[in-house]
Amino acid sequence: MTALLAAQLGPLDEARAQLADAVEILGLDEGVAAMLAVPRREMTVAVPLRRDDGSITTFIGHRVQHNLSRGPAKGGLRYSSAVDLDEVRALAMWMTWKCALLDVPYGGAKGGIAVDPRTLSDGELERLTRRYTSEILPIIGPTRDIPAPDIGTDERTMAWMMDTYSTAVGHTVPGVVTGKPLSLGGSRGRASATSAGVALIARAALEHVGIPVRGATVSVQGFGKVGRDAARFLAESGCRIVAVSDADGAVTSSAGLDIAALSAHAARTGSVAGFPGGEPIEPSRVLELDVDLLVPAAVEGVLHAGNASRVTARVIVEGANGPTASEADAILEARGTLVVPDILANAGGVLVSYFEWVQANQSYWWTERDVQERLGERMTRAWGDVLDEARRRGVSLRTAATCLAVERVAQAHKLRGLYP
Ligand code: GLU
Repeated sequence: MTALLAAQLGPLDEARAQLADAVEILGLDEGVAAMLAVPRREMTVAVPLRRDDGSITTFIGHRVQHNLSRGPAKGGLRYSSAVDLDEVRALAMWMTWKCALLDVPYGGAKGGIAVDPRTLSDGELERLTRRYTSEILPIIGPTRDIPAPDIGTDERTMAWMMDTYSTAVGHTVPGVVTGKPLSLGGSRGRASATSAGVALIARAALEHVGIPVRGATVSVQGFGKVGRDAARFLAESGCRIVAVSDADGAVTSSAGLDIAALSAHAARTGSVAGFPGGEPIEPSRVLELDVDLLVPAAVEGVLHAGNASRVTARVIVEGANGPTASEADAILEARGTLVVPDILANAGGVLVSYFEWVQANQSYWWTERDVQERLGERMTRAWGDVLDEARRRGVSLRTAATCLAVERVAQAHKLRGLYP
């Protein structure tokens, strides 16, 4: 019964519980803690869409700005039928911590529309995106709040948002969104930045626990923007990717999957399911295989009290936001699993978003090498900071990362003072 109830805790409860842990350890003032637990600003909008057949469907969208103390709000835009306000609030809070942890000068935000993008035509997606953008226009902008891709959105979505915003203000504003196509002021390395960061942190974490990267076995849940390239980078580092799943199926091969062939198959068919270079398995099993490294790279709450005791991976690197429920965290910690938290592991995306914004503001674009060097340097520094903090306080990497981030945000609040 307890397990069942725990599994039903939503992402906002999880995010608030993580904040409460950090607040207690840091000994933060109750008033400041209460302020950090709620978003600064939220906007819920109706997004009426003229369908291709002439009818009108109205979708509900949100944009939540959790914190603005360290700079403009920053975070992705998610299109998924699972989107609701509490989920967006949780994701916005995690963005605040992620940006603070990587020491990029942003607060945190997130947006979402409750829609399954696969049910819309390209024209419908464009009209939905443009109408949503114009509804949230008063609160976004390159110095206010800067959206980026997340689940269900991509560089094309960002191009439409940038164009809609630019048309409204009367001139081109590339810095209003990140994750744009290269030809519209996107950054080299942005598309694979989250995965590059996940792979970098995964290699560091394996080495940290004494498992050689070359030959390490890996299971990846999710084969979208994060999982696919993370699998590719890890395979290039000599890891053996023994299982991959997506929303429609899963494949396994003890000899290791050919990730290039699997990507080509998924691009052609829309799923990893049916890949001839592996055996089909039940998608939930991908989390429970006997591997060195597990990379959950899909959605929140996939590791919970109901399955955590069957997870035998030695290291878990969170490519997704919020994949591990707090009860699962406790079970994994007790059995000595090293869990590298989302706000560190998947921060490569927002880090290169920051680089993109800097480049757009200066109208001066960096080389691929500039981007990769700075990405590597800052991710490595953050990994070191979190390890040191965890050792110093005797806490998990998640608690250490959250403490570092919350402390930085609380410090910004204190220095700015409370208005009026
Ligand atoms: N959606 C990504 C994340 O969750 C990227 C956000 C961004 O680049 O602003 O971190």
